Amino acid sequence: MQVPLLRLQCGVNSYDWGKVGQESAAAKYAATTAAPDFTIEADKPYAELWMGTHPSLPSKDVETQRSLLDMVQDNQALMSTEISERFGGKLPFLFKVLSIRKALSIQAHPNKKLAEQLHARDPKNYPDDNHKPEMTIAITPFEGVCGFRPLAEIVHFLHAVKPLRTLVGDQAATEFEKLVKGNEDSEDSEGIKKNKDALRSLFTTLMESPSEKIEAACKELISEAESNPDRFATLSGDVATNPTNPSELAALAKRLDGQFPNDIGLFVFFFLNFVKLEPGEAMFLKADDIHAYISGDIIECMASSDNVVRAGFTPKFKDVSTLTQMLTYRYAPIEEQKLQATDYPYATLNATAYSSASSAILYDPPIDEFSVIKTDLNRKGAKVTFDGISGPSILICTRGKGKITVGPKTEEVQEGHVFFVGATAECIIENTGSGEGEDDVFTTFKAFCELPPTGEES
Ligand SMILES: [Zn+2]
Repeated sequence: MQVPLLRLQCGVNSYDWGKVGQESAAAKYAATTAAPDFTIEADKPYAELWMGTHPSLPSKDVETQRSLLDMVQDNQALMSTEISERFGGKLPFLFKVLSIRKALSIQAHPNKKLAEQLHARDPKNYPDDNHKPEMTIAITPFEGVCGFRPLAEIVHFLHAVKPLRTLVGDQAATEFEKLVKGNEDSEDSEGIKKNKDALRSLFTTLMESPSEKIEAACKELISEAESNPDRFATLSGDVATNPTNPSELAALAKRLDGQFPNDIGLFVFFFLNFVKLEPGEAMFLKADDIHAYISGDIIECMASSDNVVRAGFTPKFKDVSTLTQMLTYRYAPIEEQKLQATDYPYATLNATAYSSASSAILYDPPIDEFSVIKTDLNRKGAKVTFDGISGPSILICTRGKGKITVGPKTEEVQEGHVFFVGATAECIIENTGSGEGEDDVFTTFKAFCELPPTGEES
């Protein structure tokens, strides 16, 4: 029988927002196992490396040059019969590396029901009927926006940012303030619903602003950011909702305006949480959560789907009315959007791994399609053994050098290499040293799907 360890050849997309040439981790990773006709062009943007069976950019088995989709459909045991049946013979997740130079569109991904409707109505712009919850793990420092800010912060910006108030109109702003006043932190369902309705109404007003008003407001905002960055978007006095670092916010506004001049996205920013993730930190976006990525290199894992509803910072198709209708309007501090990793209990470290404080940690969002394990093996000889699991895995190395073993088969692993590991296979990875002394860490990310035992809620 064939050993269930496949080295994969993965393609990279060239969207405009990607990092350019060798700057792009996605491009560099792709180049380590590239098709013969692939070379990194110095001035071309490279955005996303795709690892999986999605038909838009399917991965291939290096050895046989067959698509991974072909392989898993030919041999159901690679994914487990149960997962194969449930997900129609396709990998349940799509694993990616994104290298972000400039902001991605402000977007949300439809839930399953809406995805089916959108796909039926407009298959060109909505190529899938599947939902797309997604998780982001930073591999370099990351910036983005996600989820709505606590309401008190939005009220603050309506006062402190004059062009924002002009844009939504004084009447809508006053109405919003009246509706949420004293109710901002309400925890009963009726209070929350009232707040969400008020937020939906104000946000829809903002998103429907006519373009000449947007242009004037952007110019006014940028002139404020330039003339007085230290007081940008603040109110005088010791105001609790003043942003902690106004000049950073001013610089960000200028940067975004440089990337997308006169774009409504500049004002959406005042409604959404500004998130910074350090390497290893993660956030999870449920279906219908609004977000936009701004900069950094990230690992992303999602349900295998390509549906995006966009409404700003993009030259692509915008669908403002779908977006404003679909959003959950959940508002919360950013800490609640982050996903904390936990120890992964089904991995055994050897002595060298223990003594070098190596680790295997689990990012486990509340969905069935995927989880991700990050492994740092900090010294040559450090080794981890993963128990076999009842589903498929894809592993990528983002740093250092090592090897991977499944049964009788061992392969060398370098930064950018990608492997598929079949269901139930025990898998061992080991740091074989980069020869760079102190900085000898071997880092991998392993996405996998394992269905909860039947009868149990996920
Ligand atoms: Zn997204």
